[in-house]
Amino acid sequence: MRIGVPTEIKSNEFRVGLVPGSVRELTAGGHEVVVQSGAGGGIFADDATYERAGARIVPTAEAVFEAAELIVKVKEPLASEIALLRPHHILFTYLHLAPDPGQARGLLASGATAIAYETVTDASGGLPLLAPMSEVAGRLSMEAAALALRRPTGGRGVLLGGVPGVQPAKVVVLGGGVVGTHAARMAAGLGAHVSIIDKSLPRLRQLDELFEGRVVTLASTMHAIEDAVLEADVVVGAVLVAGASAPKLVSRSMLPSMKRGAVLVDVSIDQGGCFETSRPTTHADPTYEVDGIIHYCVANMPGAVPVTSAQALNNATLPFVTKLADKGLAAFDRDPHLAAGLNVKDGRIMHQAVQMSLGFDR
Ligand code: NAD
Repeated sequence: MRIGVPTEIKSNEFRVGLVPGSVRELTAGGHEVVVQSGAGGGIFADDATYERAGARIVPTAEAVFEAAELIVKVKEPLASEIALLRPHHILFTYLHLAPDPGQARGLLASGATAIAYETVTDASGGLPLLAPMSEVAGRLSMEAAALALRRPTGGRGVLLGGVPGVQPAKVVVLGGGVVGTHAARMAAGLGAHVSIIDKSLPRLRQLDELFEGRVVTLASTMHAIEDAVLEADVVVGAVLVAGASAPKLVSRSMLPSMKRGAVLVDVSIDQGGCFETSRPTTHADPTYEVDGIIHYCVANMPGAVPVTSAQALNNATLPFVTKLADKGLAAFDRDPHLAAGLNVKDGRIMHQAVQMSLGFDR
């Protein structure tokens, strides 16, 4: 099959749908890969590197869409890309259609088949194409916290790991899923005092075993959250209730009682955030202060480390890209997990939850 990789055009998106290593795998498997010139610029992979991996370089997005049947991207298509989609195209990318009726109508009108990374499932009920970005965001949350904690940027002036003879920072992680586990791993690795709060007791048991006593696990109650947050130097918001807005676990009224210069990193901001005072920020201006508490609420954290993120994403997407390239639409028949990714086909919304959120299916 002919696979196309256009340059991402969404503002500040540096990732790319296929890294050169993935292109090499696909071309070795007998597929043709067409890459827009400069598509790998954000990860420092130039056209020559893609050519060595077996890709054909074309100058424009128009040329990619014209040459390819399977389009592999990172972010949802913008209007100029939707205009290039035809009924024979299969689009494989993050779509996040539920809150985006404009994009949904555009995809429906195009007649193309659109598969969303975020709704592909795995055998254990997880979302394997979301997990790598949660891993990145979780680990990055501690780097963000370390920077925001510094006094010159308004932070409390505490070193996460302390030094011999001085207390380390107290880090509280709300939600012990993928983001929370990776945040806790980084914090514990740096020597911070780490507590993870989750509402799932089985999950807390798993975390207790995983960290072998290096983190404290706490069941999520209003009391436990308040106690931990008032003592904390850093609070990471990493809760998720599938399909719903994040629950507000830290209210504005708690902030004046927290330590001055403490840092809230709200990774859940893409679901509305779990601190009452959270509002989305960007990498260009990532933090703001409310009542003496520093807030970091960047909605696309993995975008800051595109070299790592693009590779992590490709590690997860490549098996599905390969299956689609080998079998075309027949790939859905034998793979219910890939089929769960199907969002739009033949002018209809195919995913039930997306359909319900949008309130229309064609
Ligand atoms: P996950 O499903 O793996 O984990 C969520 C955890 O939250 C679960 O363990 C669940 O039991 C727990 N939880 C739910 N309600 C709770 C409550 N009231 N109290 C305590 N714990 C509660 O999800 P994840 O992959 O770790 O993602 C977490 C959030 O981070 C999501 O909103 C995700 O979209 C977001 N995210 C943001 C970025 C970004 O750039 N900002 C990047 C990746 C992921």
